[in-house]
Amino acid sequence: MRRHRFDIVSIFPGMFESPFGDSIIHRAREKGLLEIRVHDLRDFTLNKHRKVDDTPFGGGVGMIMNVEPIARALEAIKKEVPKARTILLSPGGKPFDQKKASQLAHQESLILICGRYEGVDERVRLHFVDEEVSIGDYILTGGEIPAMVLVETVSRLIPGVLGDSESIVEESFAGGVLEYPQYTRPRDFKGFKVPDVLVSGDPKKIRAWQKTEALKKTESVRPDLFEKIKRA
Ligand code: SAM
Repeated sequence: MRRHRFDIVSIFPGMFESPFGDSIIHRAREKGLLEIRVHDLRDFTLNKHRKVDDTPFGGGVGMIMNVEPIARALEAIKKEVPKARTILLSPGGKPFDQKKASQLAHQESLILICGRYEGVDERVRLHFVDEEVSIGDYILTGGEIPAMVLVETVSRLIPGVLGDSESIVEESFAGGVLEYPQYTRPRDFKGFKVPDVLVSGDPKKIRAWQKTEALKKTESVRPDLFEKIKRA
């Protein structure tokens, strides 16, 4: 089995301890399927105060992250993983979705750069990264949570990371639709009943119901996805 490696560059490396120290990611690391290294950007500064930001040229509010420590961090990391694909987390990037996650799951190593403050010197995007990725049309305080989202979403697509019981084939977005509704015991909770078809024992009928419900849900909640399926 191939080991996938993520290198994350951040000024808050401690933020990753718990999310990557529990559950599926922890298990995958223990199994040797994933290697995650978090680098403190301040270790790559050359100034006494380990400062990583400065005021913007041309004026404006807030601080901008300097290009130099990021370039130095990338240079050091790339000595170990020369073929790594480098991603800058940024609200101005291309939207991250399940399709993008599947593409990235084929990469053996990824480097993720987490911005802070008002963002990152444009020269990072222009000359030091392969792509810029956004996790949605909203602004977070830093790129750490977006990096966690990306690592978790990509990792669960890597063969062997999920157990047999944790199937990804039927999940929402897998076939361009949302997942069908699911129920478990009790069959009757205060008069709210499980649909009869699910306890009919007829696999054909159950499958047909699941397909119809998945489409109904997609049409009502995500008409944009529904239109894509209709056109496909
Ligand atoms: N001034 C920037 C703008 O308007 O695009 C926002 C900077 S944001 C406060 C600081 C950092 O958080 C960004 O550099 C980026 O790394 C990260 N970030 C915030 N929202 C994000 C999103 N939706 N997707 C990916 N990264 C995001």
